[in-house]
Parts: sequence; structure tokens; C-alpha cells
Amino acid sequence: MSRRIEIVMYHYVRDLARSRYPGIKGRTVEEFRGQLDWIRAHRTVVGAEAVLDAVATGAPLPERACLLTFDDAFIDHHAVVFPILRDLGLPGAFFPPARVVLEHRVLDVNKLHFVLAAVADTSALLDAMVREMAALRDEFALPPDAHYRAAVDVSGNRWDTPDVAFFKRMLQRELPEAARTRIADRLFRAFVSDDEAAFARGLYMSVAQMREMTAAGMFFGSHGYNHAWLNRLPPEEQEREIDLGLAFLRDLGAPADRWMMNYPYGGWNESLLGILRRKGCNAGLSTRVDVADLDRDDPLLLPRVNTNDLPVRADAPDRGAP
Ligand SMILES: [Zn+2]
Repeated sequence: MSRRIEIVMYHYVRDLARSRYPGIKGRTVEEFRGQLDWIRAHRTVVGAEAVLDAVATGAPLPERACLLTFDDAFIDHHAVVFPILRDLGLPGAFFPPARVVLEHRVLDVNKLHFVLAAVADTSALLDAMVREMAALRDEFALPPDAHYRAAVDVSGNRWDTPDVAFFKRMLQRELPEAARTRIADRLFRAFVSDDEAAFARGLYMSVAQMREMTAAGMFFGSHGYNHAWLNRLPPEEQEREIDLGLAFLRDLGAPADRWMMNYPYGGWNESLLGILRRKGCNAGLSTRVDVADLDRDDPLLLPRVNTNDLPVRADAPDRGAP
């Protein structure tokens, strides 16, 4: 028995080649099936409840335990992931940001994914971003473009080309939030869709689909309401995010007495952790990359690994046994 667990993070899982946006960065259905074959051969998949139990009681986990987590409420999670997990008898943990489901809005970060998938020429996209920045320069007192090119270090990005990493970083972090939202929205309308609500209905699960999954034993945890960088919000807004996220879980029929938080973008701070402890949060998932160790890690700051860190073929060797 062990107290270590490999928590695997998934986002898009879809038939990419046959989808309208094959350039979306995600797992194909075939890769996902292959990865589950590998995981079943080399790991023991446990549910989020087992992790919450282990945190609460100090109980051990099976050797080479693994938890499958799915962020952001993509419709893939109902259409692809849920039937596969159900057929294999495997548990999954899902973390929807409530607003996308309740208000049919597309997350800024998802708008950028689809803009990137729709526009093959990255330099044209950077030009478009620079044009949009120019239009907002006075209103937001933006420094010259050269400032950002010099100041933004994208070397920590493990998955993207430098241009794509720069584009994402500018529109996910560097620019003032209101400017980021407006630019993401303008690019989304220009390159992807001018009907955001219809696009959102096709991109995210519905409440009914999530209730169906809850009833079938799938776990739902909180990913906040607005998918905000929670570490950048004042305490009263942090608390609002947590309360609205919990109300959404209760509405799904998911237990909200013992619950798990998943920080959008991995953003947290001490104020947020204080609020979570006060509201009875039992475990938190970060985006720090590691195998979690319940004896070592703060249960509110458990690290995860990316699906891209694990093989997608059952016969692949196990290089990172936890
Ligand atoms: Zn997310």
C-alpha cells in the first residue's frame, strides 16, 4: 500500500481528425483508449472519493494509484470519456467551471484554442493581436509591443512553439484582464464564430448530461464559477467564486460536504486556501507537475501530471513508476 497517487489531467478528448478543428491540441479517442489500456496495465485507477478518504483518515491507497481528472466541462467528457470509462468500469473526476454551462459563454482560454486551430499562419495571428492591442493602447496605457517581446519569457512552456506560447501568454496573462477578454473576443468573432452562445452549447456539457454522469457514479468537483485566476482576486471575490462553484455542484447532485477544488490555471494563494479550509474543502488540485504524495504534499495543493506525460500504447514501457 502507498500514499502516492498519480493524478492525470485531461482537457479535450475527441475524434480530432474528423472534427471541424483538427488543430485543437487534445487527445484523440484512439490515444485515450490506448492510454487507458496502458494505465490499466501499469496503474490502479481509484476514484476521487478514495483520495478524499485517504486525506481524511490517513488510509493508504493501492500501489501505483492513479486518478483521472477532466477539466473544463468539454462535451467530449460526456460524448467520449463517459461511455468509455463506464464500459471499463473506471471512475473519473470532472471539474466544470459553472459559468460556461449556465450562461453559455466560451472561456477566453478556449476562444484562443479555437482561434489558434482556425488560423494556420501564426504570424498572421500575432499581427492581428498586435492590431487589436494598438486599438486598445491608449485606453489601457499598454507599453510598446517591443516591451512585451523582451519581457515575456515563454521557455517554461513545454508544449507550444515560441510564437504560439507568446500569443497564449499575452492573452492569458500579460495584458490587463479586460483587454485580454476584449481581444480574445474580437479574434474569436473574426476567425471562429460570431454566435458565442451556440458555440458554447456545442463545446460544453449541459447540466442534464452532468447529472446523468453523477447518477452513474462519476465524481464532480469545483473549478470555480468564472474560471478566473483565483490568486489575483480579492478575498471577497474568491469567496464568491467558491460559493457559486459549490452551489453548482449541489445542483448537479454531487456531494458538496466532502469536496475537491481544482484551481483554474493552477492559480492559488494563502487567502484562497484559508477560505477553502473554512468551507470544508478536503483536497485541491494544482497544475504543479509531479506524482502526489499524501504524506508529503498539502492536501489542498496536490500536483498532477499531464496526459501527454503518459504513454498511449499498452505495450509502452513504464518510465515514471510512482
Ligand atoms: Zn480549467
